[in-house]
Amino acid sequence: MLAQSLEHCLELLGEHGEDARLLAGGQSLMPSLALRLSAPALLIDINRVQEISEPPQSTTDVVRLSALTRHADLITSPLVKASLPLLHRAAPWIAHPGIRNRGTIGGSLALGDPASELPACAVAADATFILQSKSRGSRRVPARTFYQGMFRNACAADEMIVAVEFARMDALQTGFKEVARRKGDYAMVGLAGQAKRSGQRLTNVGLSFFAVGDYPVLAEPICQAIEAADSASQAIAMALDVYERDMQASADLWCSSQAKKYIGRSVLEDVIHDLYQ
Ligand SMILES: Cc1cc2nc3c(=O)[nH]c(=O)nc-3n(C[C@H](O)[C@H](O)[C@H](O)COP(=O)(O)OP(=O)(O)OC[C@H]3O[C@@H](n4cnc5c(N)ncnc54)[C@H](O)[C@@H]3O)c2cc1C
Repeated sequence: MLAQSLEHCLELLGEHGEDARLLAGGQSLMPSLALRLSAPALLIDINRVQEISEPPQSTTDVVRLSALTRHADLITSPLVKASLPLLHRAAPWIAHPGIRNRGTIGGSLALGDPASELPACAVAADATFILQSKSRGSRRVPARTFYQGMFRNACAADEMIVAVEFARMDALQTGFKEVARRKGDYAMVGLAGQAKRSGQRLTNVGLSFFAVGDYPVLAEPICQAIEAADSASQAIAMALDVYERDMQASADLWCSSQAKKYIGRSVLEDVIHDLYQ
């Protein structure tokens, strides 16, 4: 069914709950329907919902991205390029142009594929998801508490992501690195990061690995090690120490946990270099 407005969409979700699925870009949902991995009683097409189709908007502190912001918009929007450079750097790593033209940030964040770039960026940057339902109205959920397990999150069956807010990154350093078998494939291991640099010190470090666990992994002990260092070389040495000791990587169908852990080392080193640029 084609939702005509946000109110209409929330009404349908309230009525059908678990039996309904939102159809955004369809780049994950359509393959899963085609393969009979999912068989919802009702599809709610949200592509005409104006309220979640606004272009990126900024205030002095935050940039708000509507749920239907396409992955391609993150590459072409001058505002995203200037004020959310982490997303601008990450988006070209998502699949191929055809998928990026249709796929949406709301769909990617809601699905939370463990190997996805955007959920990891949201966790690294401590973004806030705006969820809405008919019965409970709007609520704000930090990305860092949104993900709760493999494809499980804080969004209730009658709720949807309407937007996501990122603190502006104009004055921050960002780092992004991904290793995949072929360009456009899902990551074998990836890392998104941001930090504030003053001289040789980094503060407010946020690092989130992806494709190593059930959902994006905020690497807090590694962030703390980097914040304690007073040069790039010391930050790398201290971060790698913590990484070797603490970091777990779960195997997936394509990559063993040992291979992921090995690749993660160089990914981490590269991202710390980025943060010191
Ligand atoms: C060949 C291929 C390669 C790909 N490679 C990558 C990759 O490298 N990296 C990557 O990140 N992704 C990749 N993708 C997935 C792509 O990025 C999808 O666009 C994205 O995961 C989902 O976005 P969507 O808008 O297409 O959502 P849909 O497929 O429409 O929906 C996905 C799920 O999210 C729910 N949903 C959608 N919007 C909302 C909302 N606003 N609120 C709550 N729930 C919502 C839907 O009900 C559904 O359950 C790939 C896909 C394909 C087919």
